[in-house]
Amino acid sequence: MCAKIFLNKTTVIEINNELIENLLCFRQLGNEPESGGVFVGKRLFNETILIVDFSKPSKKDFQRRYHFSKKSSHHQKLVDEHFTESQGYISLIGEWHTHPEEIPIASRVDKRSWNKIIEENKDERLFFLIIGNKSCAIYFRELTKWRTVEINLERDLI
Ligand SMILES: [Zn+2]
Repeated sequence: MCAKIFLNKTTVIEINNELIENLLCFRQLGNEPESGGVFVGKRLFNETILIVDFSKPSKKDFQRRYHFSKKSSHHQKLVDEHFTESQGYISLIGEWHTHPEEIPIASRVDKRSWNKIIEENKDERLFFLIIGNKSCAIYFRELTKWRTVEINLERDLI
């Protein structure tokens, strides 16, 4: 089984249930620190983005209750490995991190770091998922403006 998340009328993200369950394990329901990583996937011709895999935090990353920062090289390594093995068909499609709030909202720091990632990768189409405790939010840039799609975990996914 697989969930479809529409970003707008034409673009849809597809993710299988096993990946969703693995991502939801990182929710900050207790005293856990923020977690995060990258998404790799395929862009299909019909504007479908298929999530293939994601990286998890490692000890080398910076993890605090209200902050996550990628410091480990294994995130980029996962992207590079998929890219090489698939001959460029699978690539970086976005990033994710958790927030210790029920309905997550991007901070100014989040948007600043996402703008940097978009510029570094020269890819306006990247999307950014924030996993909250009751809902998730996907942020993406459309004509330089940030847009967001909220996903209610109980209603839309589980
Ligand atoms: Zn954040």
